[in-house]
Amino acid sequence: RRRSDGGVMEIEGRIVFEGEQPVGFVTTYTDITDRLRNAETVRRVRDLMSDAVNFSPTYIWETGPDGHYTFAQGMEKILGRADDEVLGTERWKQFCTEHCGKPCVGSEVACQWLSPIRAHAVLERCTLITHSADGRPVWLSSSAQPVFDEGGCFNGYRGVDVDITELTLAQQELEQMALHDPMTGLANRRKFCSRYDLEVARQSGTGNPLALLLVDVDHFKSINDRLGHLVGDECLRRIANLLSSALRVTDLVGRFGGEEFMVLLSDTDPEEALQVAETLRRVVEASSLGTPEGDPLAITVSIGVAARPASDRRDFEQVLTEADRGVYAAKHAGRNCVCAGWNAPAEA
Ligand code: GH3
Ligand code: MG
Ligand code: MG
Repeated sequence: RRRSDGGVMEIEGRIVFEGEQPVGFVTTYTDITDRLRNAETVRRVRDLMSDAVNFSPTYIWETGPDGHYTFAQGMEKILGRADDEVLGTERWKQFCTEHCGKPCVGSEVACQWLSPIRAHAVLERCTLITHSADGRPVWLSSSAQPVFDEGGCFNGYRGVDVDITELTLAQQELEQMALHDPMTGLANRRKFCSRYDLEVARQSGTGNPLALLLVDVDHFKSINDRLGHLVGDECLRRIANLLSSALRVTDLVGRFGGEEFMVLLSDTDPEEALQVAETLRRVVEASSLGTPEGDPLAITVSIGVAARPASDRRDFEQVLTEADRGVYAAKHAGRNCVCAGWNAPAEA
């Protein structure tokens, strides 16, 4: 019965017997206002939580002490896996911390969070990578709380994973745009120079020399004039690929614009740099570049080489000037050749 003040009474009537004989009637009035209010609050919080999980890019989960899922809600919309499908499977093995381009098979070694997990620490915004049921890479920001029983025994983790895939991909695209030449995808000036600074800093520790190559396409203007700018652009992309493929992964190729490419060779002495430059020259000369009509297109490059020993104090522009002197000398020597900038006279 609802009271006028809003309170709710539960009324229970009971017949009192003496043996088989009913002798009276007892009515109990219990004020259940608080109990109902609490139950209502619990229901509302649960619904609110459910809505929050279902309408946001998150899922919530719980594991037992062995790391196997004991609860999951909201996973399907992010990973394409039904919540009860994951129950009993091991949580931490499904993640990597670096995306290798292949479907994630999980790797304990790659997971930098493994020590805090083993130490039952609180986890805050760990970035984890996994794959959805259809093979799409999914980036998650995961936060979790360890759960202990009254005796202080670890009972597992309880946490929330937020889907940050869209954000991560947008960030990667912005990074790509900010640091790369849009036409060839090579490092732009910003990335190239910051890598150069890093290499110079590393040099002071290792004492190893580094080298810079400046690769200039020969008679490129006439290629544009004969075949048009679009073919010229395609040529530059092909040369960019040829140079990148012929170098070590630790070397860096850049394009600041124009028909020139820069190559940064770490831990490379002048003699080795001249050899690498000669290899690149040959690779371009031997490449089977063709016109849209299928005719072979002879493309060659002239390469200037600059050396920077560890004791060197010159900045990037000064080293680049040395490589530029090498290119100038190579052009004068008839093009399609390699010249050391340190031996070349300054340009007239
Ligand atoms: P050299 O052998 O002396 O280097 O002759 P070159 O014709 O290559 O040199 P020049 O400096 O006279 O001309 C460079 C040409 O490169 C002119 C310019 O239109 C062209 N070029 C620069 N950037 C691009 C580009 O992004 N795309 C295309 N298609 N052409 C470009
Ligand atoms: Mg040029
Ligand atoms: Mg040129």
